[in-house]
Amino acid sequence: MHRHNVALLMRLIARSAPVSRVELARRCGLTKATVSSLVGDLIDAELVRDLGPGPGGGPGRPAGRLVLDPYGPASVGLQFAADHIAGVVVDLSGRPVARQVRRLDVAALEPAAASRAAAPVLRRLFEDATAAGRLIAGVGVTVGGLVREPVVSWAPALGWREVDLRALVNAELRAVDLFGVDVFVAGEVPCAALAEYQAGAAGDWLYLGGEEVIGLASLDPAAPIAGDLGHVPVRRRGEPCPCGGHGCLELYAGRSAMAAAAGLPGPGPSRLLGDEDALAARIRQGDKAALRALDRGADALAEALLPVRALLAPETIVLGGRLGGLGESFRRRVQDRTGPGLTLRPAKLEPDAAVRGAAGTVIARLIDDPLAWMAG
Ligand SMILES: [Zn+2]
Repeated sequence: MHRHNVALLMRLIARSAPVSRVELARRCGLTKATVSSLVGDLIDAELVRDLGPGPGGGPGRPAGRLVLDPYGPASVGLQFAADHIAGVVVDLSGRPVARQVRRLDVAALEPAAASRAAAPVLRRLFEDATAAGRLIAGVGVTVGGLVREPVVSWAPALGWREVDLRALVNAELRAVDLFGVDVFVAGEVPCAALAEYQAGAAGDWLYLGGEEVIGLASLDPAAPIAGDLGHVPVRRRGEPCPCGGHGCLELYAGRSAMAAAAGLPGPGPSRLLGDEDALAARIRQGDKAALRALDRGADALAEALLPVRALLAPETIVLGGRLGGLGESFRRRVQDRTGPGLTLRPAKLEPDAAVRGAAGTVIARLIDDPLAWMAG
């Protein structure tokens, strides 16, 4: 009961900050005395901070404004992509406070070698966090692909199959003298969806995105579903796909496929490295082949969304990742082709959504069970 109440308050503060103790008591049905006592424990554990009375408070005893403690425990996100390893430290609200990116041909490395290459990234992030006096609550790791935690079942852009990524990252944490830090592994699309949710996409239903894959994930952490849309067949007698199927969406709207259809030599560097997406640049210049590739990709995506509409009947889908970065004309075309009743909204976050969300998985666990952290 105690564990449940602490978690309930933590969730309410995460969702409604800044919020007063009186408002919390009203919302969760606990007495004001109980709320004050539990909030006191959360403040002592540096999970919650009282900002004091807000401007323009009413008469009488001013109400404190409670927020998740921005100086409380932090979490590390780590992302393996084909051409880089990215890392980030986020605070309890999901806000990045330190970043690292290492350009590297990860796709050419074995998983163990890639993990070793992540060690200096992790070390620098931990040093930044420690210098700022923050404790690390855990490490969230993400890749583009299918993950059955802690195992990466298939990461096509990396060529990884059945890799126990948690064990590999744990070994590197021990190598840099970091013991007892929890490691979680998740796919880039659910991570990006979580980051969008933590950045305020509440109320929307589904997230469609991915930099190296095309995936769907729910924007409601209470109903976590995630799926690979890239290998939904959209052409009945289409070309064979590396997954073993035929005519998959990936062959028409995937990163390499769209670049090839636009006559580009390759998909170019990841968006997170700061370069403009090669295809997006051609589209902006009005290049005919690029516009045709855009239309073909949009039509294929709209087709792949038909079974999603039939199964889940979402009212809104947030379009993020690489496809979201293709701009308004792409989003509008997919929207027009899927028909009325479904709104595609642009995502809020930049290409760092997945790595932020990887760190966010640790924060989400902490918010769901603050006592586990407080007792640890
Ligand atoms: Zn396929």
